[in-house]
Amino acid sequence: MTVTLDDMRVIAYHEAGHAVVAWSLGVLIKELRIGPNGGICKHALTVSPLLDPELMGKGDWMKVEKQALILLAGEVAEQIGGQMAELAGYGELAELCNYAHDASSESIVPGSDREELRELVQLAFGDLGPHAVEWIDRTEAKATDIVMDHWSRVCALSNALLNKNVLCGTEAIQVIELTE
Ligand SMILES: [Zn+2]
Repeated sequence: MTVTLDDMRVIAYHEAGHAVVAWSLGVLIKELRIGPNGGICKHALTVSPLLDPELMGKGDWMKVEKQALILLAGEVAEQIGGQMAELAGYGELAELCNYAHDASSESIVPGSDREELRELVQLAFGDLGPHAVEWIDRTEAKATDIVMDHWSRVCALSNALLNKNVLCGTEAIQVIELTE
């Protein structure tokens, strides 16, 4: 299977989405990478796997929310990329974005963003009941707002990634901050 420029653009949108949302939340970006098989966005935010729902303070909840927003930002960027491509008349790119979004949002593959999100929410809420699911939906809406607000930055960062495939944190932050 050949990987087209459109395929790479979808991967770039996804990773740029993670990075721009991390940046908007004050989380340091460390590295971005894209390749024919996917990409990675390394950042500095970690949530302790030893969190106890009974003992969580405000700072813990803020960390959990930030991590969830960053995790959701990849699939959200695919979705918005699809809508924008549709509006611009790029039917093929729109289709690829929508396909990628469906695959990401329904993923049960270990290590995927959705699986990591489920683990995080399970840890913070103690279960994946209706309250937790509702929280995920609300967080997804928030992530969508952030990506929308910074869409030009996501596009600029995607373009930089398509040019170079690897960006260190400083380069990524520079592209984000030089874009209005
Ligand atoms: Zn991702």
